[in-house]
Amino acid sequence: MAKPLIAGNWKMNGLAADLTEAVALAQALAQQPAKARVALCPPATLIERAARALADSPVLVGAEDCHAQVSGAFTGDISAEMLADAGAVLVVVGHSERRAGHGESDADVAAKALAAARAGLEPIICVGETLAEREAGRALEIVTGQIKGSVPAALAGGAVTVAYEPVWAIGTGLTPTIPQIEEVHGAIRQALVEVLGPAGAEVGILYGGSVKPDNAVEILRATEVGGALVGGASLKAADFLQIIRAV
Ligand code: PEP
Repeated sequence: MAKPLIAGNWKMNGLAADLTEAVALAQALAQQPAKARVALCPPATLIERAARALADSPVLVGAEDCHAQVSGAFTGDISAEMLADAGAVLVVVGHSERRAGHGESDADVAAKALAAARAGLEPIICVGETLAEREAGRALEIVTGQIKGSVPAALAGGAVTVAYEPVWAIGTGLTPTIPQIEEVHGAIRQALVEVLGPAGAEVGILYGGSVKPDNAVEILRATEVGGALVGGASLKAADFLQIIRAV
């Protein structure tokens, strides 16, 4: 099984001065190493500076999204190769804020995940149901459908991580119960084995959605939870460090 991963998603937050938080995190981890892999995904504008500031530290730098093509007439977009060139080693794809706000389909997300692998980046492929879908009893159907549509079979055996992020838990302070998390992670595991074969049993499945210092221990102990994707609580080194120490 993959080593746990605790990844921070800064979203559209952070200026150069905020990299002091990333450096403080790296210093704390240098003094007492983490039991997990640790990554920070700042906005694209900060990737190169973050990669320089965190060079020789245990903190990996990731990106929040990528385009599926290598290059071309895609104004405002950034390819996986460009992110790798700037120093990223991971990239989040299919975050619900991209799926909902930018109309990204499962096929788009799968193409981005393949692009990430092509560029040598580890994709973190996000899936998750809306509140309406959960209330309609469709959470497992939605999430396993997203896995089958967004995780390309060609990634079997390569570096790939999946994140279960219920849309209704992101940035709301709400979290599913532990049995609900375990039920969805179990269904994701089965779907990953269907898509990737035996390699699907090894893929880390992160939980994301309002992970905070005070709920991290319980969530990270849950069956099939292989780490966390953390939004708001990754912006401050002290909070993020408490979550990392919960592994
Ligand atoms: C996220 O953006 O992926 C996320 C999980 O956000 P938050 O932790 O703030 O809910």
